Amino acid sequence: MSDSFDVVVIGGGPGGYNAAIRASQLGLKTACVDARETERFGGTCLNVGCIPSKAMLHASEAFEDAEDHFASLGVDVGKVSLNLGRMLEQKDAAVSGLTDGIDYLFKKNGIEGIHGRGRITGPGKVAVGERELTARSIVVATGSDVLSLPGVEIDEERVVSSTGALSLPKVPKKLLVVGGGYIGLELGSVWRRLGAEVEVVEYLDRITPGMDADLSRGFMRVLKKQGVTFRLSTKVTGIERTGDGVTVTVEPADGGEAEALEADVVLIAIGRRPYTEGLGLETVGVETDKRGFIPVDEHWRTSAEGVYAIGDVTPGPMLAHKAEEEAVAVAEVIAGLPGHVDYGVIPGVVYTNPEVATVGLTEEQLKEQGRAYKSGKFPFSANSRAKTNHDTDGFVKVLADAETDEVLGVHMMGAGVGEMIGEACVVMAFGGSSEDIARTCHPHPTRTEALRQAAMGVEGWTMQA
Ligand code: FAD
Repeated sequence: MSDSFDVVVIGGGPGGYNAAIRASQLGLKTACVDARETERFGGTCLNVGCIPSKAMLHASEAFEDAEDHFASLGVDVGKVSLNLGRMLEQKDAAVSGLTDGIDYLFKKNGIEGIHGRGRITGPGKVAVGERELTARSIVVATGSDVLSLPGVEIDEERVVSSTGALSLPKVPKKLLVVGGGYIGLELGSVWRRLGAEVEVVEYLDRITPGMDADLSRGFMRVLKKQGVTFRLSTKVTGIERTGDGVTVTVEPADGGEAEALEADVVLIAIGRRPYTEGLGLETVGVETDKRGFIPVDEHWRTSAEGVYAIGDVTPGPMLAHKAEEEAVAVAEVIAGLPGHVDYGVIPGVVYTNPEVATVGLTEEQLKEQGRAYKSGKFPFSANSRAKTNHDTDGFVKVLADAETDEVLGVHMMGAGVGEMIGEACVVMAFGGSSEDIARTCHPHPTRTEALRQAAMGVEGWTMQA
């Protein structure tokens, strides 16, 4: 086994494994090193992130449908009961099916997958255990890790991160979620559907900060209707384990009287931090910013010659598809090709029910930038497919340049909008206009017609209502 490579990728998540595959496809001799103890490639996303959370979201939705909705459709299933053990098993099976798939892809593409912690020991050198690999180019794709509150220890039993919340052995009576971002809301909605009382504590005055305000307001209204309770503008000042529960002390974000909240389980979902521990960045002079991210230029080059960085460990949205885009592009750059990522068209999806999906600029950003824009909005309550499926919560909003009509942002909430946002991404990637969407025939009856109607609304000629 040779230790000399064209490219050594450190980290086997969506950034790392896709970079390795693309580099190898382009004829570069490539190794991918991953430190995960389970010896499974796929990083956070496949092992403890996107995939297991979606498996639990899907299964818990099926449970809630069977419990609450089937009868109204004329489907009587008798008494519905939860088999949590089986639900967790199917989640684990989804994970192993996909992580095994990466082993297959590595074999097929001639990539050496190495399990172990990678450490840069000098220019073009990466040590993994006893081995010292040499490489013309090193790609750092070490991703991110859970962020906790200062002084709060995550025990993954009572005080859990997203990882613990994906495998709770029983449904908590009360789950308190700290943080109203997409991870907390997705996992909160899983356990609410399975029977937990869920309360979300958020420091800011809105959930899903950064999202179009119209959308985040509508989203919170729907989640409230589903039984989730919220404490906004509230900070957590202490978390203490009691006999069989947890006491969480909160107070108003801008100061005030403290209050103690009791819960069986507390999920800390306040964000993630870049992961660079023990990586040896200092040995070659790779700089990090004050939050620990590795800044890169437009070709994902770090401050050290021959060292590139992609994915969650770099600034920008911490999303698997952003990491994947960068993975392909960095491999192409290393191979001497013009790799490119259009950062204006990175969608974001919250996979609750209804889903929330967004791409491009929000109305608040357009106002801040002083850009003249037009908007069209269409509610799912007027969409025929949403009506037949009794899923009428939500809307689609299209924002377009007032002069050129170029689509600048699309923001949606509704069942299945995570799939629909792809159409908006393609239109925006091609610099398309709202009229392009409005004059493109969409199948009837589908939810995608709501996107078309919202685009028609930009020019004021919406037809369904
Ligand atoms: P990671 O996936 O974090 O992979 C990095 C890998 O590098 C890890 O396996 C780590 O063990 C390894 N590593 C670290 N240091 C070393 C070292 N020194 N040597 C060797 N290996 C090392 N994103 C979405 O787009 N959609 C979603 O639906 C979604 N859902 C999520 C749900 C949850 C609960 C969580 C936690 C995250 C979710 N994300 C989602 C975010 C997504 O998981 C990340 O954006 C994505 O995994 C980032 O990919 P990455 O390759 O940069 O890093």
